[in-house]
Amino acid sequence: MPKDPVLKQLENLEEQLSKTLKEVSSIKLQFEAALSENTKLSVENENLRNRFNEEQGDREPTVNATLRSVYYDKGSHICNSLFGTSREGEECLICQEILYR
Ligand SMILES: [Zn+2]
Repeated sequence: MPKDPVLKQLENLEEQLSKTLKEVSSIKLQFEAALSENTKLSVENENLRNRFNEEQGDREPTVNATLRSVYYDKGSHICNSLFGTSREGEECLICQEILYR
């Protein structure tokens, strides 16, 4: 005796839903794994950043490096007698002596 067509349809639908449910579960698992990995990487990244910052902190820019970036590289003297005045594009041996001291 042939199956009732509505029953057949319901069985098909049940099968599809079951398949879809399995897919959802699988995607959920993958997503959870990705989230967990992401959290792990975030923590690791944060730790590395902290370590990097600590090490950078140990190596604070020297006074000379600061003088150089703030004054000399922008064209001003850092030597005592001419401090802050323009080098007018010239290198100054006295300034350089201070920079490379
Ligand atoms: Zn100078």
